[in-house]
This record gives sequence, structure tokens and C-alpha cells, in this order.
Amino acid sequence: MQNDIADQIISYLIEAELITNKQVQHAQKIKSKIVSSKRILDILKELKYITDDQIKQALTSHKHSFRIGDLLIEFGYLTREKLDAALEIKKNNKGKKKKLGEILIEQKFISEDDFLDLLSIQLGFPHIDPDIDEIDKKLISKASIKWFRHYQVIPLYYQENKPLIAFADPFNTKSINAVTETFGSDFLTAVSSYNAIFLILNKLEYGSKTQAVDEDSVQAIVDSIIQSALLQEVSDIHMEPFKNKLVVRFRQDGILVHYKDYPIEIIPMLTSRIKIMSNANIAEKRKHQGGRITFDFNGSEFDLRVSFYVSVFGEKIVLRVLNSVNQILPIEHIGMRSKLLKRFLQDALDTPSGVILVTGPTGSGKTTTVYSCINHIKKPEISIITAEEPVEYIMKDVIQCSINPNINLTYEETLRHIVRQDPDVIVIGEIRDTYSADVAVHAALTGHKVLTSFHTEDSIGGLIRLMNMDIEAFLVSSTVLCVLAQRLLRKVCSKCAEAYNLSPSDLAKLEYTPADIGKHQFIKGKGCSRCRYTGYKGRIAVFEMLILNEFVRDAILTHKSSHEIRKISIETSGLLTLLEDAIHKAASGLTTIEEIFRCVPKLLKPRSIKEIIRLQGE
Ligand SMILES: [Zn+2]
Repeated sequence: MQNDIADQIISYLIEAELITNKQVQHAQKIKSKIVSSKRILDILKELKYITDDQIKQALTSHKHSFRIGDLLIEFGYLTREKLDAALEIKKNNKGKKKKLGEILIEQKFISEDDFLDLLSIQLGFPHIDPDIDEIDKKLISKASIKWFRHYQVIPLYYQENKPLIAFADPFNTKSINAVTETFGSDFLTAVSSYNAIFLILNKLEYGSKTQAVDEDSVQAIVDSIIQSALLQEVSDIHMEPFKNKLVVRFRQDGILVHYKDYPIEIIPMLTSRIKIMSNANIAEKRKHQGGRITFDFNGSEFDLRVSFYVSVFGEKIVLRVLNSVNQILPIEHIGMRSKLLKRFLQDALDTPSGVILVTGPTGSGKTTTVYSCINHIKKPEISIITAEEPVEYIMKDVIQCSINPNINLTYEETLRHIVRQDPDVIVIGEIRDTYSADVAVHAALTGHKVLTSFHTEDSIGGLIRLMNMDIEAFLVSSTVLCVLAQRLLRKVCSKCAEAYNLSPSDLAKLEYTPADIGKHQFIKGKGCSRCRYTGYKGRIAVFEMLILNEFVRDAILTHKSSHEIRKISIETSGLLTLLEDAIHKAASGLTTIEEIFRCVPKLLKPRSIKEIIRLQGE
């Protein structure tokens, strides 16, 4: 089956008299003699019987006879196993009608960039980021917004007298047939990302309605704000009432970005609408409130936590997007270097009992890491139970409890009961007082694995703080396995990245000489449409892992200072600081020096990049 596509392409090439049967036989003979599984097309290319362009030509002129999944495999973007898994999800998801490409991207089997890459670079469809001002009104009037949304296509404009149509998946037969029926068969195909198409459709549908204020239009505005936020993968939506307007901003990759302004007249109705959606008290306007919304969109359910905060010009509303389970990364993908990951698994996560502490400020990705850990250890023969405030992702096969002080379901009350539930693994959302610290340590002492988080700057700080909570040093030293400190830094946009040299003041801040940098090159994004001119796209975690080996345990028992504990762990356990991991990631082109200065504490002078790389074993 694996060679289906290749065979098909070859038969088209033969048909077009671009290669001969004899040449193909020759290539097949070579293929049978080599041990590694080289692709037949590559062999034909190496023999100079065909070129990339000819393959592209064969593909584009017969595009209707290929399936996107097979093409992704043939061009090495996807494994057969992942495709089968995605097809299985598609089959089980019948009611929701998701397209294969969408599932592949959602499950992170491929990135949207790779997907567009295959379509545009390998197959030669132009990749277009649609601009609402360029769209031909006559073309768009040929069908309803709902229709475009359903088929995930958008007509752009005329090119060479033919309509140019952007498809999210140009191999989807249903979309192709629908477009042929509406626009005729003589159209040109372009590709756009799913998100780009949906954003334009949202703008077309709701963009002009913001002036008229009635209940229906307010409802549409609220829906379109939330939909746009979900499409752009924001973490929070801020709706802020001011004297003369309502400002909506999205928090994206940790930074607030302006979305749109609305007239003040809509504020009362918009606030009421969101109160109804989140089951908050619509009559209460003088007190702060909270609520929760389940929002159906694009075939998925999204959970939003809502907060209403009374301010002078009305209630400020913040909606936090609680992530869906699809977004939990496998532990291998959270951003740990392979040597660090190996040690983390061996010395902490895969050991049967003990406390694992993840530390960092709010928004440093602690919760996501804890969930990735749960995902890694969960299996049918163990029981995992959690106490979280609130539950942010619903996980299969895990008993999760959302702390709710309003009804007296407090941490203290929950933790008192949690140990009686005969769990193997206990997840305590956050250690915030002596009581929760005590429960964590005692649970570990009686053979449980405990995962929890803490609000401290760095890994050593986590240990010290635990001891300052009146937990005996011997208890800390005998139960804590590892303290993992982390931060999230914005990732450089790969599309507009440019090399640059560190300035003398950058070097001075790092206490580096040019020799400490060596030949390593730093990059930053100059800004483009893909990253909305921020120069950044997505985020990457940096880590500092303190493993409690015998030397560190001894230092804790003898009440050494944090400075001494840090020195001991650097010398005996190969600890790399947050700053050093961040510098290595910046030198590998993942983030920038500015991001490091913005987010990462400097507690010690970092070692040279060469030394860091040697210690990380890469
Ligand atoms: Zn960019």
C-alpha cells in the first residue's frame, strides 16, 4: 500500500512520456538492492530521469485523484501510524464532520505550516493569506457565509479571467465538487490556512454589524469575539469598559494584543449576554462575580472561565480559555533537552513515590507541565486523583476535583479526604500553605507519588520555601525527588527571522565576553503577517531541574544556605540554571535575548555557551 502514490505518479509520468518503462524498471532494481527504504521517486530523481518540477506537474494536473493523507506520507511529513490514528478519530467523530487536515493539525500530528508547505512548495498551489479588502464582492455573493464555512473555502478575486478560490484542503472532494457547482469548473486553486479562512468569514459576517445595537447583534458580536479568540489560540479575552468605548484585547503568547473597539452603547447588553452564557447573576451589577461557559465551536467544546470585575465605567470581563485535552503535549514535546528529559523520567517521574515540585510564576506553563506528567504516568493499573483550583483540562481516566471555596469545598477539606481514596498518584494543584505542604510530604512518605506546583522564582527557592513552611528538613530531604523550575518564552517567528549580533550592552547584562558566545548566531523576527508583526509565534519552555542527590540532601539536612545548595547542585548534579537553558535555546534560534531579559532571572553568572552545550550533552 505504501507505494500507491508513487506508482500513481510514475504512471502519470509514463503517460506524459516524461520517463520510460525501462527507466522505472532500472530504478526498481536499484531499490530492491539497497537495504534502507529509499523512495522510488528519490531514486528516479538521483538517476536524473525526472525532476521535482515534473513530479509537481504530474501531481497538480491530476490533483483530484490523490488523497491528502497519502501525499503527506509520501513526502515524509507523516507516518502511516499517525494517519491511521487520525482516520480513526475522524471515523469516531462522525457527528462533528471534521476534515482530515484539521484533525491532523489539531492532534499536532503535523504543524499547519508543514501542511501549507506540502500544499504550496511541494505541490505548487499558491499560498495566500487572504486580505478582506481584496476580496471580490461579486464572488463572495455567490454563496452564503455558512456555505463557505462548511466547505472551508473562500473566493478571492479574478486572475486571468478565472476565479481564484482559496481552499483549506484542496484535495477535499466535497469542497471541490461544491466549488465546481457554484463557480464552474474553470477556477484556479490557492491554499490558505483554516484559521485565515475562518477569520475572514467572521469579519465578513460580523464586521459591519457593530453599529446597530440590538440583542441579536450583541449575541453575534459576543460569538464572533470568542470564535476569533479561539481561532487565534489566545489564552484570555479582556473586555474593558472605558469612558467612550469598549476595548477588546486578547492575550496571545503571554502578551495583550488589541483586537477591536466597540461603541459604549453595547456594554450593558454585552455584559448581560455574557452573564447569561456563564450562569452569573444578571441583576447583580455592584459586586465582582465569576462564571463558566461551555462554548461549541468548529465541532469542539471549549471551556471558558469568566470573571466580572466592577469598575467605574462598568464591569470589566475576562474570559480565560481553559484548554481542551487535545492541547496536552506528550512529555517528550514540552521542550526539555533529551538528556534533561531522560534524567527527569529516570530520577523523578518514573520512580514509584516521592514529591515532584514544578515551580514558576503565574503563566510560566506549570500547569501544562503537570498535565503532561499525568499523561505520561497514567495507566489502567494505577489510580490518579487530583485537587485543582480549578480543573483546567478534563483528563480521561483521572479523578479530578475542582476546589470551590464558595461552597466550602476547600483545599484543606479536599486534601483531608484525598488520602483516604487509596490513590497511587496525588496531584495537588498548588501548595499554598503549611497544611497542603504537610499533606504532600506525608503522602510521599507513605509511598505515594505526589505532583504539585509552587510559586517560586527558581528550583532552589522551591526547596527553601518548603522548609520555611515549617516542614522538617529531614522530611523535605527524604521525600522531595526533584524541583523543576520553568518559564515560557516567546518563540521567534520562523518566517521573518533574521540573524543579528548581540550588542555590547546585551553582553554586559549576561556578563559575557565575545569568547563566551563563540560562533553561535542569534536571531530575531523582523515582523510579518504570519506573526502579526510581533516577530514571535508560539512559545517555548525553559527549565532548571534540581535533582535531590545525596549531596543536595545532605546540604538540606545541615541547613546550608540557598547559595551553597545551588553551588552543590551545580557541581554534583550538573544543574543548569534557567538562564543557561534559555541562552542555549536562544543560541539555537528558538527565542531572543530580549525575551530572556524579560522573563528569566539571573542569579548567577551563566557559563559559556560551549560549556552549556557540553553539559547538556548535545
Ligand atoms: Zn513573522
